[in-house]
Formats: sequence, structure tokens, C-alpha cells
Amino acid sequence: AKANVGERLAYYEPEMDETARARRQIANDLRHALDRNELTLVYQPQHGLATGEMTGYEALLRWEHPTRGFIAPDDFIPIAEETGEIFRIGEWVLREACTEAMAWANDLKIAVNLSAVQLSQSDLVQVVHGILIETGLSPRRLELEITETAIIGDKLRALHLLRQIKALGISIAMDDFGTGYSSLDTLHSFPFDKIKIDKSFLLRSQTSSQARAIIKAVLALGQSLNVPVLAEGVETLDQVALLKEQGCDEAQGYYFGRPGASPSLSIGHVVITGS
Ligand code: C2E
Ligand code: CA
Ligand code: CA
Ligand code: CA
Repeated sequence: AKANVGERLAYYEPEMDETARARRQIANDLRHALDRNELTLVYQPQHGLATGEMTGYEALLRWEHPTRGFIAPDDFIPIAEETGEIFRIGEWVLREACTEAMAWANDLKIAVNLSAVQLSQSDLVQVVHGILIETGLSPRRLELEITETAIIGDKLRALHLLRQIKALGISIAMDDFGTGYSSLDTLHSFPFDKIKIDKSFLLRSQTSSQARAIIKAVLALGQSLNVPVLAEGVETLDQVALLKEQGCDEAQGYYFGRPGASPSLSIGHVVITGS
């Protein structure tokens, strides 16, 4: 092992230093990830519960690191947010997702996650608008998913921003509902087109009556506010039945499909296969 002076701190807090080192390494590698084509999107279907038909796909980011293998978004997006790399990555995600949706033979929606940090980007609306023009995607097909925590900072600014986005014809979903703060207040004062119940409630629904009560309450809330509700993390037919019975509008989860490669590749009639 190397034993230079710079590493002496490791003697006092070896774990923290290891974690810090790993983060620094990831932050550094992340700066090249785009140029090296290490980032990809996978797509997870969303289904209407009344008829079972598909309504859209959510784009989810994947990073195949050259030595560490696949790194989950929860493990690198916070770092990208810290370093500011999220701006470039977020723009790439939007462009990639819109381009992908343009290749589909249907006009299903594409849902794209926006980081809280992206909401602070002063030209966000112009960037999104530019990507729609560039790719030719109708704004009606784009849905941006944001979490409550993204708007707890400067609420007036966030409200103004969301109104501008909506004015373009883009819809906005509140992601991870039930996990943040001030849910009710935020729901009431922001123009959301959809509420996504956080998957943690669905994952606990079989064993926890509290989780079921929360799901029920959110569905009632959506109904009274006239905002459609999508349940995420739906893994079983029992959950589907429960959600349908309680009037949930849409669902997403392993029961319907895991996030997978470009859906356009699996739609037979758009892929032109040689000869
Ligand atoms: P999210 O937006 O809440 O995405 C849903 C997560 O739940 C995804 O994890 C998805 O793979 C997972 N999931 C879907 N169905 C099921 C299920 O039935 N059971 C279980 N156990 N899990 C399910 P993933 O892909 O690891 O993404 C994690 C988080 O990373 C996302 O949570 C989102 O907050 C963030 N993220 C992903 N892609 C992007 C992106 O392009 N930009 C930004 N800013 N954040 C992203
Ligand atoms: Ca999401
Ligand atoms: Ca979510
Ligand atoms: Ca999440």
C-alpha cells in the first residue's frame, strides 16, 4: 500500500475517506460518461387501469461504468447534482428521450425525470422548447416528472417555471408523492397534471395496512382535486385489483414491465429488417 503524507488522514477516518474518494472518482468519471457513450436510457411502460392499455413510457437513466459496471441513478444523480454535471446530462436525457419517442409507431407519452437542480437552470424552458423543435416531438407527448422536494425552495420561482412549461403544452407529474414535505399545500398550489404515488407504499401494501390507507387517501385526494393518479412499483395482480377497485387511473411497475431497451426496437412494423 502507498503510504504518502496525503493519505495520513485515512488513518483517522478510513471509511469516510474511502467514500469521499469513491465519490470524487465517480464525479470525475461522470464528466466523461456522455462523451464515452456510457449513458443510456431504458423505458418502463405505464398502463391505464380501466382498460389495461399502455399510455406511455418513463425514461430511466443507466450508466455503464467502464470498471464499476452498472451504477444506479440513485447513486450517481446526487453526485451529478453536486458537480453541476446534471445540466448536461439532463439535457442529453431530454433530447434522447424525445428522439426515441419520435421513432415509435404510436403517439404514446414519454415521461422524463427532471432533477431539482435542473429547475434552477435559468434557461430551462428555452432548452426544453429547443429540444421539442429540434426533435419534432409534440409537447402533448412529453411529461416532466418532478418531486416535491424540487419545489420547496423558491416556490414562486418554481410556480412561474412550471406555468411556462405548461404553456408550451407539456404536462407535469408530481413524482414520489407521499415521501416529501408539505404534500397537500404543494398539490393545491401547483398545476400538476398527474400524481405518482411513491413506490414505497405499493411495495409495503401487502404487509402494511398503513401503506394501504395512504394509497387510499392519495387516490381520494386525486379524485377530489380532479388530478389523475398513477401508482408506481406495482408488482402483483393483487395490487392491480386493489388499485382498480379504488379508482386508480394508471400504474407502472414490474407487473406490467421492467425498464427495458428502446421500445421502438421491439415494435415490429417500425423496424426495417434488412433484405
Ligand atoms: P423514480 O423516478 O421514482 O423511478 C422509479 C424507480 O422505480 C426506477 O428505479 C424503476 O426502475 C423502479 N421501479 C419501477 N417499477 C418497479 C417495481 O415494480 N418494483 C420496484 N422495486 N422498483 C420499480 P431506477 O431506474 O433505479 O431510478 C431511480 C431513480 O433515479 C428514479 O426514481 C429517479 O428519481 C432517478 N432517475 C432515473 N433516471 C433519471 C433521469 O434521467 N434524470 C433524473 N434527474 N433522475 C433520474
Ligand atoms: Ca420518476
Ligand atoms: Ca417515482
Ligand atoms: Ca425516486
